[in-house]
Amino acid sequence: MKYTYALLFILSIGLFSISCSTNRDVPATKWYRGNTHTHTSALRVHAKTSPKDVTAWYHKRDYNFLILSEHDLFIDPKKVEMPKDKRDDFILIPGIELSEELHGTCMNVLDKVKKISGKGKTNKQIIQSQVDRTLAIGGQFIHNHPNWLSKVKKEDIEGIKNLTLFEHYNGTMSVEQTFGSDEFESTQVIWDYLLGKGDVMYAVAADDAHSHEPGSDAPGRGWVMVNAQKAKELTPKAITDAMLHGEFYASSGVFLDNCDFDNGTYRVVINKEATIKELANLAQVRGKPIKNGKAGFRIEWIEKNGKVFKTTTALSSFLKAKKDQIYIRPRIVYTRKNLTFGWEEYFAWGQPQFMDGRTIKSNHTHGLASKIAHTH
Ligand SMILES: [Zn+2]
Ligand SMILES: [Zn+2]
Repeated sequence: MKYTYALLFILSIGLFSISCSTNRDVPATKWYRGNTHTHTSALRVHAKTSPKDVTAWYHKRDYNFLILSEHDLFIDPKKVEMPKDKRDDFILIPGIELSEELHGTCMNVLDKVKKISGKGKTNKQIIQSQVDRTLAIGGQFIHNHPNWLSKVKKEDIEGIKNLTLFEHYNGTMSVEQTFGSDEFESTQVIWDYLLGKGDVMYAVAADDAHSHEPGSDAPGRGWVMVNAQKAKELTPKAITDAMLHGEFYASSGVFLDNCDFDNGTYRVVINKEATIKELANLAQVRGKPIKNGKAGFRIEWIEKNGKVFKTTTALSSFLKAKKDQIYIRPRIVYTRKNLTFGWEEYFAWGQPQFMDGRTIKSNHTHGLASKIAHTH
């Protein structure tokens, strides 16, 4: 009899641990860290640091991929001198920054993209043409710093075919671009507007570094973390495809263990230690200044119209999406006291998950990408 009770007890413990280890106990995702936008002295007037030294900077800081995106000047990764101790998990992705009237990173292109004047064209026509020219030579396009010089309005980006990536955060322009000012429409407003209009649009954070000395153009302020399991391998094509499908999150300082959507549930788990360690370098990082704050993390869940519908200060959050929310996306905020000016905030932005059945095809009605089904 005693034996039976003991057996029942063991069985019930077993069942209990099974129920506890449902989706809340997921292992940390393996991520590839990368920067899609940086400048070098290859174009002499533009930046001071050589392609070799810029590459070494990112390699040393455990990035896994980098695009040396010079203005209309193709830097062939094969000709860039790599660090002597180069890790196997580091690659250069070939690309340029197309700098016409408007800018964008042409990702995974093996040549220059033909530059043409947009004179007399609308912003929408210019961006569409940039996307088309990039796809025509096998790459993907990221629309960079939309509100630079207040040039591009949200309506200009709406409905552009084959565009699913845009710079939501740019390390040089920093918080003014993302959160808006009297001059700028914020990229947050632009993003939720596009998502509300039915576009599939994913947010990129990038450095756009021009100088490797501490200052307003320093590197290490904006990056993406690509889901390594979804990308499957670290190659220019695999990383580009994974980003095209939204298999990444963007960051201005916050690291996550998990940020994915599985079986109707969006999972976010913060990596507190990695975040605090990363932000210990004050010369390099730059947060959003706020007047008053409370130290710590919070996870905000956003739905249609950019509405924050749920906030938690826990280090993880699991959310089952409802159909009428149209889309949900998480924004993860870390608040801390800054030594010089009060309080500041750093962010990670998870990509939207759509409840209305929209797919990448809604942006991609022709060309290469139309053949790729959305796999969420
Ligand atoms: Zn630019
Ligand atoms: Zn740039």
